[in-house]
Amino acid sequence: MGDQLKEKCRHKNLRKEYIMGSQTGDFECLDCGRMGYGRDWPEKERAAQELKLWAQHEELSKQAKDLSAKILASNPQENYDEHVRLVKESTETYTSLSGIIAEINELRK
Ligand SMILES: [Zn+2]
Repeated sequence: MGDQLKEKCRHKNLRKEYIMGSQTGDFECLDCGRMGYGRDWPEKERAAQELKLWAQHEELSKQAKDLSAKILASNPQENYDEHVRLVKESTETYTSLSGIIAEINELRK
C-alpha cells in the first residue's frame, strides 16, 4: 500500500499483537499494517497532528494580522505596487489558513 493511502487510513480495524501467546500491548492496523501501542494510538496520533496544525494556524494568524495592519496603513495612491503586494500576500496567508482548517476537519472526521 502506498504512503498516500497509509496517511489516509483511519486505522479502524485494529488487531491485538501477541508474541508467544501473550499480549504485547501493541495493536496492528489490518488495513495499512501500521502498529502502535494501546488501542487508542490512532486517536492519540491524530490529536498530536492536530496540535501541530493549530500551532501553524497560530503562527499564520499572526502574520495575517500583521499584514492587515500594513494594508490599512498603506496608501494605495502613493505606492500602489506595495499595496497590491501586501494584499496578495494577505490573501495567500488566508488561503493557507483555510487549508489548515480543512486539514483539521479531515483529521476529525
Ligand atoms: Zn491503518
